[in-house]
Amino acid sequence: MFTIIIILLAVLGAALGSFFNVLIYRLPRKQSIVFPASHCGECGKAIPFYLNIPILSYLMLGGKCKYCGAKIHWHHLLVELITPLILIALFLQYGLFSLLFLKYALLSLFMIPIFFIDAFHQIIPHKLSIPLIPLGLLLTLIPGNDVTLLNALVSAGIIFAFLLFIAYAYRFARKADGLGGGDIWLLTGIAAFFGIISMPYVILISAVLGIIYFFIFVRDKDHGFAFGTFISFTTVLWAIIGSSRVFDLISFI
Ligand SMILES: [Zn+2]
Repeated sequence: MFTIIIILLAVLGAALGSFFNVLIYRLPRKQSIVFPASHCGECGKAIPFYLNIPILSYLMLGGKCKYCGAKIHWHHLLVELITPLILIALFLQYGLFSLLFLKYALLSLFMIPIFFIDAFHQIIPHKLSIPLIPLGLLLTLIPGNDVTLLNALVSAGIIFAFLLFIAYAYRFARKADGLGGGDIWLLTGIAAFFGIISMPYVILISAVLGIIYFFIFVRDKDHGFAFGTFISFTTVLWAIIGSSRVFDLISFI
């Protein structure tokens, strides 16, 4: 049974990863995510279904378009590999038949396209961030949630107000945008899932990771800073480890 579940999650994850690749390409370009069917971004040729198999097609074609030979970016393969791995990690943590598995799988699945779209384009599409707020709140109504409706509401409200204040204060002080609207919606949605106690840690870890990355790899002040990439990475990590385990560890230290 255990092996069957792992295989099913792997197949489901790879298929979802393939769909996320469509979102990652089309959402920032404001294209429909349904029409037209999958096609090469370079020559526009439609990709037949037998060449649209997650992971395998990429490896068989050597990461190139069959028709024009244009390179298919390696992130396509990465997304199709990482999505099943995240689902399997969440299953190992929460079991399959628990609300927490469903809840954190849902949250993590939203984080995958956000991670890549923000990394590549420095935007977080509202279509991916704002729905997290009602979803997180609605899930608290189902028994077995680790966050109450009141906690989720207060958490989302405080995080939204706090970040809005920071954004305006920064704009007033520096005459430039420091925190984007996308970051605010995203963290408000995440707050509705995690509740108030986790949020300071999630924001702090995201910021520290982002700053470390910036100083090692970027160092250019004019370069766009994709905070959403680090927020989504930290969120998946936090969901997999589980806030209760993190706090056990913190109190142990
Ligand atoms: Zn092509």
